[in-house]
Amino acid sequence: MTDKSTKIIPLADLRYASRVPTVPARFLAPTGLLGDTLGRPLRDLRISVTDRCNFRCNYCMPSEIFDKNYTFLPQSSLLSFEEISRLAKIFVAHGVEKIRLTGGEPLLRKNLEVLIGMLARLQTPAGKPLDITLTTNGSLLARKARSLKDAGLQRVTVSLDALDDAIFRRMNDVDFPVADVLKGIDAAQQAGLAPLKINMVVKRGTNDDQILPMARHFRHSGAVLRFIEYMDVGATNGWRMDEVLPSSQVIERLRAEFALVAIDPNHSGETAERWHYLDGGGEVGVISSVTHAFCGECNRARLSTEGKLFLCLFASQGHDLRALLRSQHDDEQIAAAIGLIWQARSDRYSELRAGLPPDASPASAAKRVEMSYIGG
Ligand code: SAM
Ligand code: SF4
Ligand code: SF4
Repeated sequence: MTDKSTKIIPLADLRYASRVPTVPARFLAPTGLLGDTLGRPLRDLRISVTDRCNFRCNYCMPSEIFDKNYTFLPQSSLLSFEEISRLAKIFVAHGVEKIRLTGGEPLLRKNLEVLIGMLARLQTPAGKPLDITLTTNGSLLARKARSLKDAGLQRVTVSLDALDDAIFRRMNDVDFPVADVLKGIDAAQQAGLAPLKINMVVKRGTNDDQILPMARHFRHSGAVLRFIEYMDVGATNGWRMDEVLPSSQVIERLRAEFALVAIDPNHSGETAERWHYLDGGGEVGVISSVTHAFCGECNRARLSTEGKLFLCLFASQGHDLRALLRSQHDDEQIAAAIGLIWQARSDRYSELRAGLPPDASPASAAKRVEMSYIGG
């Protein structure tokens, strides 16, 4: 057995780690007012629609692990669109107001527009439409922006780690040209998928020299650029603290060139710290997942491609909602089970890590699920 295969086997086993939720004997209908053990509401649901991707970003799906021998989920494991929208409706009854489709690369999921159409018809208990968005690497956006918008998608976040073509090709590790992502961004803006956000994961020594070129490019463009600290998510990316460039340093570099003023969060639970260019160039932001834990307001749940509910990006165990969906439980029973799960939630990984030495981790990295499996 080679070193490579010994790495793959535990991952394949562990990503299925989950328990079948308890359905209480007596249950109350959802009120939209659920709170977890730290009083945090449930507002944001991230749904991974595929574990596959056409990129191999080293910080997410390193090609030496996600190679041709890697076993992705079979089609039969995936939640169908009907199953996803049934669950989404239950989550909305529990208070979810925002749904983000993610992956893997969500635009690889066939007929995604059909799912978007189904989700767009859902309403909050107060009769408001949901905020529906999607995170994509942008590779298929030029082709799909219009049909996504027509299906009911409101906005989109495009991940883009460099403007320099050589750096970008190296980071996506499949030699994908940056020009094609930029075309996708243009198409999204033309289709009215707004406000468009651009996420750049910053790795010190890999793409931090792209911070200023990216800022210059997206100022005055209508798009909101956000710099994200490289996170120790998953168990395969070989994360090291010295490759994290703290957001405070990103802001320092921006301030050396641009006049910025801090602005308030859009809503409680927002992960980004936001700034305006004083000359009217628009908004820029940072997400300091490593250096500034924001667990205290974390209102996000994540649904994996095969229907496992994760309560934290760094969780090692999910709750198998698909088992409930496929065993004749009705919506009231599933809602009650989800209510119990959220009420028992105590996850606050980043806060715990903040109290430890820089390279230490509060949980075994070997047990954590991959970002490409539960979505960003
Ligand atoms: N494939 C899509 C994309 O790249 O936008 C959606 C899925 S991807 C897992 C979602 C987001 O997670 C992307 O913005 C990506 O840059 C981010 N991400 C992945 N691994 C990360 C890491 N180790 N640290 C910080 N962000 C990461
Ligand atoms: Fe694919 Fe997105 Fe992960 Fe990059 S970050 S490998 S594009 S899922
Ligand atoms: Fe939320 Fe977990 Fe991230 Fe904390 S570490 S903000 S609980 S996802």
